[in-house]
Amino acid sequence: MTEHDFDLISVGGGYAGLVAASRAAQLGLKAAVLERGSDALYACNSRFAGGVMHVSYHDPKSPSDVLTAAINEICAGNADAELVSAIATNAGRAVEWLRDEGAKFARVGNVSWRQWILSPPRPAVTQMDWKGRGADVALRTLEKNLGERGGVLHRNTQVIDLILENGCCMGVRAKQGDADVTFRARAVLLADGGFQGNADMAGQHLTPAPQRVKQRGAGTGLGDGIRMAQAAGADLSTLDAFYGHVLSRDAMHNERVWPYPQLDELAAAGLLVNQSGQRIGDEGMGGVYLANMIARQPDPLATTVIFDDTIWQGPGRAAAIPPNSTLLGAGGTLHKADTIAALAVKLDMDASSLEATVQNYNAALTADTLNTLQPPRSARRRKPFAIAQPPFYGAPACCGLTYTMGGVRISGHAEVLRADRSAIPGLYAAGATSGGLEGGPAVGYVGGLIKALTFGLLAAEHTARSLSTSPEKP
Ligand SMILES: Cc1cc2nc3c(=O)[nH]c(=O)nc-3n(C[C@H](O)[C@H](O)[C@H](O)COP(=O)(O)OP(=O)(O)OC[C@H]3O[C@@H](n4cnc5c(N)ncnc54)[C@H](O)[C@@H]3O)c2cc1C
Repeated sequence: MTEHDFDLISVGGGYAGLVAASRAAQLGLKAAVLERGSDALYACNSRFAGGVMHVSYHDPKSPSDVLTAAINEICAGNADAELVSAIATNAGRAVEWLRDEGAKFARVGNVSWRQWILSPPRPAVTQMDWKGRGADVALRTLEKNLGERGGVLHRNTQVIDLILENGCCMGVRAKQGDADVTFRARAVLLADGGFQGNADMAGQHLTPAPQRVKQRGAGTGLGDGIRMAQAAGADLSTLDAFYGHVLSRDAMHNERVWPYPQLDELAAAGLLVNQSGQRIGDEGMGGVYLANMIARQPDPLATTVIFDDTIWQGPGRAAAIPPNSTLLGAGGTLHKADTIAALAVKLDMDASSLEATVQNYNAALTADTLNTLQPPRSARRRKPFAIAQPPFYGAPACCGLTYTMGGVRISGHAEVLRADRSAIPGLYAAGATSGGLEGGPAVGYVGGLIKALTFGLLAAEHTARSLSTSPEKP
């Protein structure tokens, strides 16, 4: 059995893990990343990301009170106040730090949340396209910087267990192929990216049918960090929400229709119905929420987005990679008819049921009583459109699961917390492994990259302060 000794070990080589290790090495600590993937460009969500650094769709450099209000609005007040404060006050500094590390950024016009896009940005194509794009390039830069500071990234190293002594985390046990390896460390950061790739956990917390949900990412988060933290006595947030989008159902077999176009804007302007022609959730909450509602259906492959020509020509063209102009070209299915009854026949739905749903919705919209519908339809975030202008459309949908939002409870310094909010000494969590900021009943999405970046940074800086070995005080 080989033994190694470090100050800080990151479990996982996405942004959370690599940022923490690189920052720790910059502060004079001996740091390592242990990464399960074995390829030079191992798969992870961080590498595949579109690269937009935003906090709840705001510029991360916005004043902290603006960011605090934005997070509390999108999470409907369910986000942990300590985590809200930590990200609202550190996100701007975090993107500056990443730029100083050598990451390149581009901005798009004056749109607040598109001021910090890792460059070169991915092109506006529907299929996966990540190699040499901003998120991949910046991740490689972080690994290079880590190496130049005396740190190391071990590939093909799956962390299995934490070493706990007198309630403190003192390292990890890992597998390198068939070999058992021990890494002792004064601090361990769990940054293994959530549990979206663990069908049992997804089945327990997100959906009754995990195989009928589309993995909209690397699928490398297996829930190891959550399992290990829980065994060490950590508290967990609710695990019932994920970041994802409404996709064409064809994404289950056609690589050209995911991760884009998202059908979010069409669903949020129109209706999302099940095979009985009945609405399944509040479309006004937007696509991330609706993707979660699809996952919770008895059959997540039995929902359809219903809209009319006004929506198709308007919101259908709104996104950076809009469904109107890309869906059909990429081989996505779109049914079209001159009446709702004729559309229902094409969708194999009961015509009178779908007609009743559309009529009730249109009547409530006219009477301003959308909140009395079952389920209610909110109008504050997303403008509801009448379904009135033929032709009418039906896009068979599925949900794309990108990463899970719930996880290990942490402090504002990324320390792993017990139920009484005391910290487990030597144990940290960041990125998609951590919970309490995003998710909740409103499925609030704060931003996966900025969460990984900010809390990775904070974990390293807290470790350096705790160990008091840093020549450069944070
Ligand atoms: C297509 C796509 C587009 C996206 N676009 C954006 C965007 O524009 N803006 C945004 O904010 N977010 C975006 N995201 C989300 C964002 O990529 C993630 O939230 C973020 O990268 C998570 O980083 P992480 O470090 O927590 O996890 P990850 O990047 O998932 O890294 C975790 C790493 O841990 C490794 N690992 C797992 N288990 C173990 C183990 N037991 N031992 C060792 N290693 C292990 C995995 O192999 C992986 O490399 C996007 C995601 C996708 C897929």
